[in-house]
Amino acid sequence: MSRVTAPRLRWSVAAAVALAGVFVLGVTSVHFALPGSTVALWWPAAGLAVSFLLATNPGPRRSAVFVLGVLVSSAAANLVGGRPAWVSILYGVANAAEVALVHGLLTARGRRPRLASMDDLWRLIAATVTGAAVIGVLAGLTAHYVLGGDFLDSASAAAFSHGAAVLVMAPLGIAAGIRRTRRPEVEDLVQWVVVVGVTAWVFHLDQSLPLAFLPIPGLVWGALRLGLRTVAAQLLVVGVVAVTMTSVGGGPFATAAQVGGIPPETVGALTQAFLATAAVTTLSLAVATTQRRAALAELRSEVELSGVVLDTAASAIIVVDASGTIARLNATAARLLGAPEDAPEDAPEDALVGRPAAEVFPVDDPQEVRTRMAEIADGTVPLRNEQDWRVEGLGVRHMVWTNAYLTDDDGRRTHLVKTGVDVTDERAARTFVEAVLEAATATAIIGTDLDGVITLFNRGAETVLGWRAAEVVGIRDWSLLHDPADVERRAAELGLDPGFGVLVHRLRGGAATETRDWTYVRKDGTRRTVSLTMSGIRDESGRLTGYLGVAEDVTRRRQAEVALQVALDRERQAVEELTALDRTKSDFVSSVSHELRTPLASVLGYAEMLEDGAAGDLTERQLELVGRVDRNGRRLLSLIEDLLLNSRIEAGRLRLEPRRCDLSDVVASAWTSVATVTSQRELARDIDVSPRPLWVEGDPAALERMVTNLLSNAVKFTPDGGRVSLAAHPDDRDPGTVRLVVSDSGMGIPPADHERVFARFFRSSAANERAIQGSGLGLSIVRAIAEGHGGSVAVESAPDAGSTFTVTLPVAPATAVPVSGSGGPAPERGVSDIS
Ligand code: ADP
Repeated sequence: MSRVTAPRLRWSVAAAVALAGVFVLGVTSVHFALPGSTVALWWPAAGLAVSFLLATNPGPRRSAVFVLGVLVSSAAANLVGGRPAWVSILYGVANAAEVALVHGLLTARGRRPRLASMDDLWRLIAATVTGAAVIGVLAGLTAHYVLGGDFLDSASAAAFSHGAAVLVMAPLGIAAGIRRTRRPEVEDLVQWVVVVGVTAWVFHLDQSLPLAFLPIPGLVWGALRLGLRTVAAQLLVVGVVAVTMTSVGGGPFATAAQVGGIPPETVGALTQAFLATAAVTTLSLAVATTQRRAALAELRSEVELSGVVLDTAASAIIVVDASGTIARLNATAARLLGAPEDAPEDAPEDALVGRPAAEVFPVDDPQEVRTRMAEIADGTVPLRNEQDWRVEGLGVRHMVWTNAYLTDDDGRRTHLVKTGVDVTDERAARTFVEAVLEAATATAIIGTDLDGVITLFNRGAETVLGWRAAEVVGIRDWSLLHDPADVERRAAELGLDPGFGVLVHRLRGGAATETRDWTYVRKDGTRRTVSLTMSGIRDESGRLTGYLGVAEDVTRRRQAEVALQVALDRERQAVEELTALDRTKSDFVSSVSHELRTPLASVLGYAEMLEDGAAGDLTERQLELVGRVDRNGRRLLSLIEDLLLNSRIEAGRLRLEPRRCDLSDVVASAWTSVATVTSQRELARDIDVSPRPLWVEGDPAALERMVTNLLSNAVKFTPDGGRVSLAAHPDDRDPGTVRLVVSDSGMGIPPADHERVFARFFRSSAANERAIQGSGLGLSIVRAIAEGHGGSVAVESAPDAGSTFTVTLPVAPATAVPVSGSGGPAPERGVSDIS
């Protein structure tokens, strides 16, 4: 027979063959009809037609074509079998109707025909009985009205013969569509031999014993052990043998007819009843066995599955029965409980099964466990509880248990299923984090979900903001804690609507953190400035799940910064004012000095004229007084010159008029003028000037002023009896420079003051104490002039050991043209400040 998936042609050929079979079987059945019976003893043609449709399960159109074929074949068979044409046609219609009905019922609503459950078997029996009833009624009517036979006899005979045939043969059609699940073994062969042999023996011609029941055990054997296919095939064989042999007078039923005078219809009915019984019995057994096997296999795999699930579960699972005894537990639970020493290595949990939970649970108070377990039957064990377990090698583990009951059919609680999770590490981590959060009392740590609803509010946040965590967690939009004006300003900057989005705009844009100052509004309405660092909270897969803000109250710091800024501004303003004042003062000093210089020069000129006798000869006393006027006048002039120079230097406007000149001349001139002014002093004086010219590129007046200042200091700070020397030579170590050395044996300068003496207005305390006159400007002018010539000045001195001032100046290049304006640093040329 062809399968449903076979190509169209193959199905058509198979259908044609089947219809030919229907015809042949029909002819044979009519031929083998018991003498005197209007209907055949057995109608296997119906079984074959139904079988074929069930095995190939074609679509509605093909089924219809095939049913039509059944009509034609059956009618033809009846006709050929010698029945009148009308009868044959009506029987053909009745056959076709039966086949269509049975097949239709078994495949209603697109169902595939199967025999996997008792429901399927019931459906087959019901369809068969319905089909048999239909053929019975139709055949009975035909026999009664056309042939003049008894309706009931014909109807029942037809119903039985068809019903039995369909019941015996349809399973084979269904089984053909089922995949073979086992290979045939020796047992199959033996069983086949037994069934066929016994059936043949029971129905053989000489058999007169009523042994019709004998083939049943063989069929049952097949049903229990060899499966549906074998049973279906054997039912057909038994049917064929029984019917054939009965119709030729063999077997118990035919014998009964001969011996007991039973009418042929009854013999037929008996044979069909025998076949129907055999079919129903063995089929139901076969189906039940198959179903049981499938159920067992399912159960086994389910048990295996639940075993695997239990053993791979990370949670500890323990099943305790109502007496408090462990009934089952998984590997995780066994690990935590610690297997007893005698436990088998591969399944340590087995050794724990059957022991009281109170004995094996590693808790400090077994009595509590015992009490709990006694409550199983009452159902009062809490659905969730926590316990500390002392686990060997792991220390104290904190277990959280979820409990559920198992009940029996009567609803009694028989077991408690405990599922436990070890939360020790998690709790420790959580405690640590909580401790950290709580310890940060000065820092507000606020967590939010993605929408800004607060999820975390630590102690610091409570302190900074004045809200309790319970008042804000889960309820308040975080942006509400901010000064609305602040948020609005920032929103405007970012071009957003005011709200939480303003705070996390950068983070949403991908930044890791963002820190900026915000104003928080405390619960009492006061405002605090905080420096808030926002960052995103991400889960293990990197997905953003919320935000964390860490805020520090910087109100004081910001206030201090503002105060400092104000102070700095004030300071700057003061400095500017002082600088302006200083400039005014310098300008004033400068102009006063300038104004003093001309009349003083005139005074000195007149004094000189008097000394020279322009007003007649002066007496000794007069000469002495005029000499004093002259000396003091010169000192005053020198002071005025210093003040004027200082003003220039201060303003950066020192003008020099450099030209090639011989330093020896300058030195000699200065020496003479100082000597004149200090002629009354008792000092030893040495001058040692190089016999060769000391060419320098310089302003002679400025250089003379420099030497004069050094010499007058030496004289000033050296008491009478001391020595003042002046030397000017080319530098031995550096041929490019000349050295001018002014030294004295005076009071000296402490090393701490060596640098300060060149500062403007610096006067040593010793100079002040001893009332040595001076302005504190001399050395600053010396340094400005030395440096203005590209040279430098240095001091070597110690208290009471004299001082040596050394000026180093660059030698003028040999080719230099001795004209003004070559190489001086003066910004303006031609007019020297020093005259
Ligand atoms: P002034 O001589 O008018 O006080 P200076 O600028 O010339 O101002 O000198 C500054 C200070 O340096 C002097 O007050 C003095 O203390 C110290 N000083 C300068 N030259 C000598 C020196 N030759 N010996 C000792 N101290 C000196």
